[in-house]
Amino acid sequence: MNAGRAKVYARRRKRRMRGRTHDLTDAQWAALVAAWGGCAYCGSATGSLEKDCMLPIANGGRYTLSNVVPACRSCNASKWNAEVTSWLRRKRLDEAAFLTRQREIFTQLEAELDASAATPGTDD
Ligand SMILES: [Zn+2]
Repeated sequence: MNAGRAKVYARRRKRRMRGRTHDLTDAQWAALVAAWGGCAYCGSATGSLEKDCMLPIANGGRYTLSNVVPACRSCNASKWNAEVTSWLRRKRLDEAAFLTRQREIFTQLEAELDASAATPGTDD
């Protein structure tokens, strides 16, 4: 495959990803930050929060309501491309509590936000 062709494929792929799966809106992000009230992992409420994909992009994760949580800079940098549950265990954070709360917040926000924009199911 020549370089020009590869570039076209890469561009197409990028456009497809953006159009279809990275659908977290600003409103959803604001709602996530409000619901967690700080870093989803360590609870820190100081400093700015970053969008962390529980399932990393490198592993097929996407910026969606069901996959993004607010994380402090420190947790986000530490987790990087790690699988979330093994990373939580390694950091000795409460994995079960995190997963329960994440599911609760997602369910609640999905119900609230679905009033305006219906989504046809989730990946999970
Ligand atoms: Zn944190």
